Amino acid sequence: MMGTSEKHRCPLHSTSCSKPPFTPDLSARHRPKRKLRGVNTTPTPNAPPLNAVRPAGERAELLTWIKDCLRETYGELALQPRREPMHELISTILSQRTTHKDEEAAYYSLSELGDWDAIIEAPTEAVAHAIRRSNYPESKAPRIQETLRRIKAAPGGYDLEFLRELPLKEALKWLTDLPGVGVKTASLVLLFNFARPVFPVDTHVHRINTRVGTIPKMGEQAAHRALLALLPPDPPFLFELHKNLLKHGQQVCQWTRPKCGVCVLRERCDAYAIHGDRVPSFGEK
Ligand code: SF4
Repeated sequence: MMGTSEKHRCPLHSTSCSKPPFTPDLSARHRPKRKLRGVNTTPTPNAPPLNAVRPAGERAELLTWIKDCLRETYGELALQPRREPMHELISTILSQRTTHKDEEAAYYSLSELGDWDAIIEAPTEAVAHAIRRSNYPESKAPRIQETLRRIKAAPGGYDLEFLRELPLKEALKWLTDLPGVGVKTASLVLLFNFARPVFPVDTHVHRINTRVGTIPKMGEQAAHRALLALLPPDPPFLFELHKNLLKHGQQVCQWTRPKCGVCVLRERCDAYAIHGDRVPSFGEK
């Protein structure tokens, strides 16, 4: 039997892990199914309550635990802008319902039209053609052009540096008033480029938090507010948690057939407690 102070090799990475190895509670698979929505709060004998119905303080602690587990798995990350603010903003619009590879191809092709002024002046069909690797190019092209026009007309022009100092609520409103910019895109720009304390919720962040039960079932938009209310206003913390959840969603807690057998979060995951190794595709009942 391994003592808690001994190190062991984690299944997901080559480094040693100081956490005790997880021993699955096989009895969990035989627990009666409990509903996350329309919450059944009647305690099943010997079963702890689901995370999703626990007080906010306990779910906040759970988020810190998740961040620590993912750091042990994927590593510590320093908060650094990955690209210029305008590049981040336009790329994030292109990334909506699009793979990272296609988003990059669309951005590259868009930049071949010239600078931001040239993209504003180009025929909208030419912009749509340039970004055709991104999904919904016909909708995105006029939105990108209108967004660029409004930014150009703002006092700082294409320099978005003023967002670093603008009160957070106003910065979010200024960005989300732009066509094609939702709360996720605005949060990404504010956190990644200006180290503002917001938490972008993409499909991976939303799925994992819903399954683990840090938030009850709700849409992505509402999840921004719900998660931010539980998280510390600490940009490096928020950045690392966001990035590592993204990796975990891509590699382990996938939309369909999540790999619970190698997941470092399973000991505290509502979906695993309910379904065992048969967690359904996200969105299925
Ligand atoms: S245990 Fe399964 S459902 Fe839960 S977070 Fe891990 S992979 Fe996702």
